[in-house]
Amino acid sequence: MRDPPQSLSLRGLTCRYGSKTALHEASFDVRPGEFVSILGPSGCGKSTLLRAIAGLEPVAAGEILVGGRSVEGLAPKDREVAFVFQSYALYPHMSCRDNLAAPLVMRELSAFERPALARILSPGIRARHRSIRDRVEATAAQLGITELLDRRPADLSGGQRQRVALGRALIREPQLFLLDEPLANLDAALRNRTRSDLRALQKRIGATTLFVTHDQSEAMAISDRVVVMFDGRVRQIGTPDELYRHPVDLDVARFLSQPHLNVIDAEALRAAIGERTASGDIILAGQALGGIEGVVAFRPEHAAIRQRQGPGLPGLPVVVDHAEHAGVEAHLFVRTVEGSVGCVIRIPSEAIGQWPPGSEGILHFALDAVHVFPAAETGRGAVVSPQKAVA
Ligand code: ADP
Repeated sequence: MRDPPQSLSLRGLTCRYGSKTALHEASFDVRPGEFVSILGPSGCGKSTLLRAIAGLEPVAAGEILVGGRSVEGLAPKDREVAFVFQSYALYPHMSCRDNLAAPLVMRELSAFERPALARILSPGIRARHRSIRDRVEATAAQLGITELLDRRPADLSGGQRQRVALGRALIREPQLFLLDEPLANLDAALRNRTRSDLRALQKRIGATTLFVTHDQSEAMAISDRVVVMFDGRVRQIGTPDELYRHPVDLDVARFLSQPHLNVIDAEALRAAIGERTASGDIILAGQALGGIEGVVAFRPEHAAIRQRQGPGLPGLPVVVDHAEHAGVEAHLFVRTVEGSVGCVIRIPSEAIGQWPPGSEGILHFALDAVHVFPAAETGRGAVVSPQKAVA
C-alpha cells in the first residue's frame, strides 16, 4: 500500500549561480495529489526550481516543505522524490525489467545479496528478490509495458523508453514526482498521446506532481494548476481557465496565446476608429476606450471578420494581407485601411478562399474578451493585477 500523497510548499526559495540569481523568492503550495506545471520560456529557472526541490541544487535562501516538514539538509536520495529527466537515462546494457528493478535493488539489497544466486543463501534474501520481482511486474502492468520487460532500451521506441523511465521513478513510490520536460524528445503525435497517458497515470496513482514545460498548450492541457515563470520569478499561478481568462500581465498573456496575441496601442486603436465612432462609447474590459492608456490585447479567436458592418461596435474596415493554415483553423493577417493597426483573426480553414490578399472586410472583436494592460508594463515588470474582462 502506498503512503498517501504529500503536499509541497515553497517559501521564498532562492537559488544562485555565482552572482546570478536564477530563482527569486519562489513561494507557492502544491496540494497532495495535485498536478502542477511550471511553465515559462527557456532559461527562466524552471529546472533550477525542480532541481532545488530534489536536493540537486544548493538553496541560497528560503525553505522547501514536503508534507509540512522541511527537507533542508536531506540528501537527494533521502528526499523521497522521483525525478524524470528529458533524457531517459536508462541503463543501456540492462533489460527493462532490470532497469525497473534497479532503484529497489540498490535500496533493498546489499552488493553481496544482489546476484540471482544469492537467493539460495537464505529465505530472507529470497523473499526480498521475490518482492522486487512482484513490484516490477505490478508497475509494468500499471504502465502497460509488461511485454517490453525483457527488451533492452535500444529496442524500444521513444514513447516506450519514456514509460520505462517513468516506471523506474514510480516504482520507488515517491512522495513527490518531479518531471523535467519528460516529453520533449517525442514527436508531436506521440507527445500528445503520452501526455494524456501521463495525466491518467498520475490521477490513478495520486502522486503529487510538478511538471516542467516550456509548451503552453501542454501545460494548459494536463495541469490542475500552472505556475508561470519569467526571469527567475513566479508571475502567476492559476488553473488553466484562470490563466486563459485573466492573464496577470502582457508577458503572461503573450506566452499563453501562442502563436499570436493581438496587442494594439490604445492610441492607435482610437485613431483607427477615428471619427466614425466616439471612442468614449466603446467599453473594453470595463473601461472606456477614450480613457485607456496602454495597450489593448485580444486573442485571434476573439476577433471576427465580416463582409460588411454589422450591428454593434467596434467595426474596423480592414484589408487582408495574407492567411496561414493551422490545421482545422487558419489565421488571417489584416491591417486597417490606413495601415496603422495590424491584427490576426482566427477563421475556419475552409473560409480562407473567401479572404484572398487585398480583399476588404470589417473586423469585430469581442469587447468582453479584451485585456487592457499599462503601456509601461510591456517590458519585464513587476506583477500587476489583471484588468478583468467584463462578462
Ligand atoms: P529553464 O529550466 O527554465 O530553461 P534553468 O533553471 O535551466 O532554466 O536556468 C535558469 C538560469 O540559470 C539560466 O539563465 C541559466 O543560464 C542559468 N543556469 C542554469 N544552470 C546553471 C549553472 N549550472 N551554472 C550557471 N548558470 C546556470
